[in-house]
Amino acid sequence: MNIPAIQPNFWFYWFVFCGIIMGGYFAAASGLYWLLYSVLSRKPPASSCGSRQKSREAISKDIKLSVLSGLFFALGAACFMVCYDWDLTQVYTQWKLQDLGYIAFSYILVLWLQDTCFYFTHRLFHLPLLFKWFHQGHHLSQPPTPWTFFALEPMEAAVQATFLFGITFVVPLHLGVLVAILITMAVWAMGNHLGFQVVPSSQTSRWWGRWLIGSTHHLVHHRQYSQHYGLYFTFWDKVLGTQNDRYDAELLQP
Ligand SMILES: [Zn+2]
Ligand SMILES: [Zn+2]
Repeated sequence: MNIPAIQPNFWFYWFVFCGIIMGGYFAAASGLYWLLYSVLSRKPPASSCGSRQKSREAISKDIKLSVLSGLFFALGAACFMVCYDWDLTQVYTQWKLQDLGYIAFSYILVLWLQDTCFYFTHRLFHLPLLFKWFHQGHHLSQPPTPWTFFALEPMEAAVQATFLFGITFVVPLHLGVLVAILITMAVWAMGNHLGFQVVPSSQTSRWWGRWLIGSTHHLVHHRQYSQHYGLYFTFWDKVLGTQNDRYDAELLQP
């Protein structure tokens, strides 16, 4: 008996990516939360109001926003898959050894472009007119927890997903590079929201550590909204004067 092959369509892709994104989010956030507060016995976070109940409420709001974000990122992924099937994007799968230089370059280039987009939109979202609609939800947990990294207002999630979808039409990218960028984004965002620095400060205080964003850097932003808007690199914060004056000299020191 011949079983007809399933022809993937937009909603099929959307459904599959919803499962992948949300499964990944719940596995990573719950695993990290358990690791930090049970295995490593770190003190569970109390909210800025000092109440454990408030902290639980903030985590449940983080989860609701993250599920909504997942729906938007899955929409972007489904749009990409349909366009990829129609050969409309610049994403390719063939490669040769001599392409390795470009593959590495395209990975760094897109991370830098994404960081630039994130920095400027993040600053815009902190304008009083836009904050409530685009970004307020991300700052509900004080301090952030492993549940916070994906907690974006739907409008912000739509902007970030649109960037990722759009870049596949602009920069020729190997499919493996695209996947590596998505994994880097998720892992980096998780690291930025642990509430403490994972990489020892003896390492982050080296010259390269001063150019990379980690939990210590992003925690400043969650306390001081007018500073530290970047995602991966401290470049734009340094150039445009939004880096905390004490960061290199004091906060990063062992
Ligand atoms: Zn954050
Ligand atoms: Zn912010």
